[in-house]
Amino acid sequence: MGAEITTPSSCQRLPCRPNSGSNATATFLEPSSLAAHPQLGNKTPKPSREDEYIWGPSSNGRFSIKSATWLQYDHLHKYNQSKLIYKLWNLNVQPKIKIFGWLLLRGRLKTRDRLSKFGIINDNSCPLCNRDNETADHLFGYCDFTKEVWRLANINTSVDWEEGYLKVFEELFLLQPYNADLFAKTITLCWQVWKTRNNVIFITASANPMSVVMSVEVIMKSFDDFNTISRDSTASGFIIRDHDARPVIAATKYVGNSTTPVAEATALRDSLITAKDKGFTRLEVEGDSKLVINAVNGIVTPPWRLLKLIEDIRTIATSFSQISFKHIYREANFIADAIANLGHEAMSPLFWSDKVPSEASRALLFDVVNIGCPRGFFL
Ligand SMILES: [Zn+2]
Repeated sequence: MGAEITTPSSCQRLPCRPNSGSNATATFLEPSSLAAHPQLGNKTPKPSREDEYIWGPSSNGRFSIKSATWLQYDHLHKYNQSKLIYKLWNLNVQPKIKIFGWLLLRGRLKTRDRLSKFGIINDNSCPLCNRDNETADHLFGYCDFTKEVWRLANINTSVDWEEGYLKVFEELFLLQPYNADLFAKTITLCWQVWKTRNNVIFITASANPMSVVMSVEVIMKSFDDFNTISRDSTASGFIIRDHDARPVIAATKYVGNSTTPVAEATALRDSLITAKDKGFTRLEVEGDSKLVINAVNGIVTPPWRLLKLIEDIRTIATSFSQISFKHIYREANFIADAIANLGHEAMSPLFWSDKVPSEASRALLFDVVNIGCPRGFFL
């Protein structure tokens, strides 16, 4: 038997049904009619049984120390996982590496143990060592291949990777004094291990721990180069010299508010156009932006800000019979640096034919007399 209660129209608490309005009604059922209710089935409270407390975390409903320990660990683990994910999103790494790291920290990467659980594959073996089953803990922790990566990259080897990568991350990045660069490097290494593992599986590439470490150094350096803040005032500068190292053209111009790599790529493009106009057919190009040189050489994918400039450079490069692009350190590129510095104050582009400006002449003299220049040297 049902009881119908009409709610007074002044009461604002009644949510109920979409058409409730001010005259809405709510229907309550008496316990005796619950069993007959089609949506509630036949389960009814047993009046003969006393109420009792039940411990949810254990399967039999009884409290145990073991289940309490697991409960505490699970809460702590989830708390630490959240803290690591928060730190991950603030790292200075590429967005795609953050997405990868997020999947890794959430345990959502499609490792072979998970795929076999879903019945997608039968082979669980780790493609990097062929010794153990591929789990995330194995792949990013105690796989022989990955352990060698940790050793070569100088990641703290005193931690016990057998405990699983999350425990190690907790120890390295939560319990010890936080080092964001180390966290960025570790996540990028994991990403490169994952890429290497995928290449072994899908294109049967060979895996080498040293190439993983070196690739990560290039990736991180390129990203740092691109984020180098020099947005207040940038100027590009270049010098073209003949095979006897005599200056043919030197030029500089103000680029404006931009990043250093954009200024470097602008200088490179302008220098190629000038060299082409001057009738050069063979060129050796040296630049001190590793990101720009690597992007032109196809070693790294250019960031979107550089994309158009890099395309221009590659297109113009095809008009030379011989051309190469080489990275040199800034200390060895001091002539172009000295010329570029003049561009900051220039209202319009500056050109010098068959000579360099007096501000760069000392640098030119030094460069002609000395072959090469040690890192850290400045005029
Ligand atoms: Zn392995």
